[in-house]
Amino acid sequence: MPQNTTTTVWNYSAGPAIMPKPVLQKAAAELVNWNNTAMSVMELSHRSPEFEQILATTEHNLRTLLAIPHNYRVLWMQGGATSQFSALVYNLFGHPHEHVAADYLVTGAWSAKAVQEANRLGVKTNVVLDTTASNHTGSIDPTTIHYTPAPNAAYVYYCDNETVHGVEFPAVLANVPASVPLVCDMSSNILSRTFDVSKFGLIFAGAQKNIGPAGATLVLIRDDLLDRKHPTLVCPVMMDYALCAKNNSMYNTPPTYAIYVSGLVFEWLLQQGGIPAMEKRNKEKAETLYTAIDSSNGLFVCPVAKTYRSRMNVPFRVCDPTTGQPSNDLEKRFLNGAQERRMLQLKGHRSVGGIRASLYNAMPIEGVNVLVDYMREFAATVNKK
Ligand SMILES: *Cc1c(COP(=O)(O)O)cnc(C)c1O
Repeated sequence: MPQNTTTTVWNYSAGPAIMPKPVLQKAAAELVNWNNTAMSVMELSHRSPEFEQILATTEHNLRTLLAIPHNYRVLWMQGGATSQFSALVYNLFGHPHEHVAADYLVTGAWSAKAVQEANRLGVKTNVVLDTTASNHTGSIDPTTIHYTPAPNAAYVYYCDNETVHGVEFPAVLANVPASVPLVCDMSSNILSRTFDVSKFGLIFAGAQKNIGPAGATLVLIRDDLLDRKHPTLVCPVMMDYALCAKNNSMYNTPPTYAIYVSGLVFEWLLQQGGIPAMEKRNKEKAETLYTAIDSSNGLFVCPVAKTYRSRMNVPFRVCDPTTGQPSNDLEKRFLNGAQERRMLQLKGHRSVGGIRASLYNAMPIEGVNVLVDYMREFAATVNKK
């Protein structure tokens, strides 16, 4: 197949999402012959020394990138972030305390699903913050939250970046009762900015947004939490953190190829200057796009409160200049024009509508600049009428 027929596209998908081009090129170059084994990584036994080496290097690089403390375990699991909504309930609700409830902050579609699953499994949850009534637009004041007092709380749960609604916490959630583990869904913003892992008990992330291919799910867990299983809810083996940790993520066959490609992404991140360099770039990208939205005289509107605007997923509406209301017609026109310019996957989530541009680590600033240029061009055609 000829190599040079692929044309450039800009992929703003929320996930599975854009990958760094050098990573895809390296994976392609090694596809049929990894490290002179005359085999593809996907043909290697997960018990082989070759794969063990890949797994060890991948973990080492991740630990370097995130400065993961020694008392945290890195687990590769399956079933996506969604399976973690269940897994954390089974694993964190028991010993050493008699936990009566878990506190949940509901700030968008994903944290809503997480608490729904905990309730379905029959444990007691307290929704200590819920922005449903304001359509998850980041009307959040963490200082007003009343948490369950320490000995009775199993954990405090929140989603750091709500991928659908574009709501992101500007910093690690503060003022949580000190001895209660903080549990966080970082599926769509892990590796995008520096943060202190030691503030969390458990962090999880599906790979397909900001890590690598779908199929691998990353879990970081403080090791004292490996022994907290619910006393009566029997945890399925595939969701058992302690079992996964004891078997070095290989109780059964792990998603070997997805882990390998994630490892290539970690190498790429290190070459780029690590997380501080990504943070700087991501900040610049997000500022460029939000500035274009906010300076459009109401043609483009982002509904999210400024402090909680996501740097990874930017949702906005295209509004009719005469009514000031979101216009499905203008949004359709905007998306069609984008498609013609090879700017893809800009349609907002079906539950929110409008436009959403995802700007993960792999999206270069050029991808934001072409979008902003197109927005200006589009504004000129609308204003002419
Ligand atoms: C995509 C996403 C999920 C669900 O991930 P799956 O891997 O599809 O289960 C959960 N939380 C957040 C924040 C997400 O972005």
